Amino acid sequence: MDDVRRSVRIAVFLSWLLIVPAGFVYLALNHPAASPDFRILLPVTILAVLAVYFPVRRNGIPLSLVGWLTLPAFLHFGVLTEAVIIQIALLGTIPGNLKSPDPLHRFFFNSTMTFVLSVVSAGAFHALGGSAGGMGMADMVIPALFYIAARTAGNILFMDLYQKLIGNPYPLNSEIVLLDVIAAIVVFTYGLCAYFLYDLIGFYSLPVLAIPFFSVTMMMRKYDNAERVNDILTQAVELGHEMSGKITQPEVLDLFVRRVPKIVPADSLYIYDIRNGRVEPLICSEDGEQINLNLDSLAPGEGIGRMIYRSGKGLLFNARQEWNDHAEQYDHPEAESLLGTLIVRNRKIEGIVGVMSRRQNVYEEHHQRILELLGSYLSVSLEKARHVQKTVHESERCGLTGLYNYRYMESELRRRVDLVLTGKSKELSFIMLDIDHFKKVNDTYGHQSGNEILITFADLLREKVEGAGNWTVARYGGEEFALVLPDIPKQDALRFAEEIRNEIEQYEFLIGTDEEEPMSSVRITASIGVASVPDDADSAMDVMRNADRALYTGAKQIGRNRVATYSG
Ligand code: GH3
Ligand code: MG
Ligand code: MG
Repeated sequence: MDDVRRSVRIAVFLSWLLIVPAGFVYLALNHPAASPDFRILLPVTILAVLAVYFPVRRNGIPLSLVGWLTLPAFLHFGVLTEAVIIQIALLGTIPGNLKSPDPLHRFFFNSTMTFVLSVVSAGAFHALGGSAGGMGMADMVIPALFYIAARTAGNILFMDLYQKLIGNPYPLNSEIVLLDVIAAIVVFTYGLCAYFLYDLIGFYSLPVLAIPFFSVTMMMRKYDNAERVNDILTQAVELGHEMSGKITQPEVLDLFVRRVPKIVPADSLYIYDIRNGRVEPLICSEDGEQINLNLDSLAPGEGIGRMIYRSGKGLLFNARQEWNDHAEQYDHPEAESLLGTLIVRNRKIEGIVGVMSRRQNVYEEHHQRILELLGSYLSVSLEKARHVQKTVHESERCGLTGLYNYRYMESELRRRVDLVLTGKSKELSFIMLDIDHFKKVNDTYGHQSGNEILITFADLLREKVEGAGNWTVARYGGEEFALVLPDIPKQDALRFAEEIRNEIEQYEFLIGTDEEEPMSSVRITASIGVASVPDDADSAMDVMRNADRALYTGAKQIGRNRVATYSG
């Protein structure tokens, strides 16, 4: 029931103004209370306020059973007395409604609806021959039954109408109707008992009935509360499972940011990293969507994150004035409630999760526990994702040069060749390079210097493909390298290969850079073979074999330091 439209709010207020005050004047003039006994009515009114303040809940739907107090008040003293009591009792809804965006609107709506129902149900009672005060059981039952029926039906219709009016996507459902009917049965039987017991034993009837009533109410509230906590705990665990299935950090964070606000009420959510005691904003979301807030503006040293960090145990505030002073630099002026938890692992604070709501009094103790749980799921999932990414990276790369390894290159080549064979791509070229007389380089300068040259050689190739998003450069093995160039025709690949060959020939490879030996420079050359799909080959193995053959027969055997292509 967020953000009720202005026109609806005004209509509700005007209805209240027109109906309730005038209605009371009318009732006072035409149906004055039959000799009210304040010794009983005062405690009844207090209990009615309490009954409204502590509604029984089923799955979060509040169900007020205050009727067991107001029904006998009506039967004894008439509609005016009943209407006064129930209107006072409605004050009991105010603390609970403070959480809603518009508590005043809710009050006026409830007040108007309740007043109309008081009058309508009294009308039904009288129409069936009932009269307030001193009726016997036999005459009373039928009119009282209609009284309750009218009230219950009216209540359901009103609520349904109202949901439609405010465009609530969750209209009346059978569960709510069933609950209302059960409540009506309880109210009817308990209320009639109260009526007759009052006749028998007077004032004492009140504690005799109130004590079991409130005991059962409290029990049911505890039970429903436990059920609700259990429900969100289940959701939290499910999210934990889902997060642990994600293998990249952005996926984990995205899932967290989208789902947490559905579990713990949050209009905005912040995640901070703690690095060497510094609080660094990592991600921020509003209404379940990541936003590109300028995280630097959150002043890493100050603000909410820092405040939560300093608390050492997490924070829970339900109104802005409780925390405003502590966070000087913060640009979320509408936030009222704030919940902050620490992600602690191995007795170290690793991160911070903070959620905020624009409403007051949103967070309860159990939200804090749940958010802590979610925070630790997050940190485990992030670490796992980090680990998986690292393992994947390592399994695809060559440890010396950081280039892709043969295994990765081969599967990439297969994938690209398939695209050509299935017509999704026109062509591709494959280039193979082999350093000339590398054995001699090793023999002359040592294996370590040979490695340095391989690293520099790899860097040169990497630079050459930089910017071409889908090109792959790999270490084929030893002093052999390969390039996969999707969508590149053979002639372009030959030109590119020649460019590389020339650059290598010109380049001075420095060796001895990380040793005490003096630095020196070495010149090397490379022989290169080129083959293309579909020109020279129709499979990944084929194109590799043909590039290799071109390299040996067309370049090495002819004298090295040259580019050759396959010629079938
Ligand atoms: P060619 O011009 O015929 O290619 O002569 P080459 O000496 O380069 O060819 P050959 O295949 O006979 O020798 C390759 C050498 O590359 C053998 C090996 O010592 C060296 N090599 C292979 N892998 C590495 C490596 O990781 N580090 C170093 N330093 N040398 C390597
Ligand atoms: Mg070789
Ligand atoms: Mg060689």
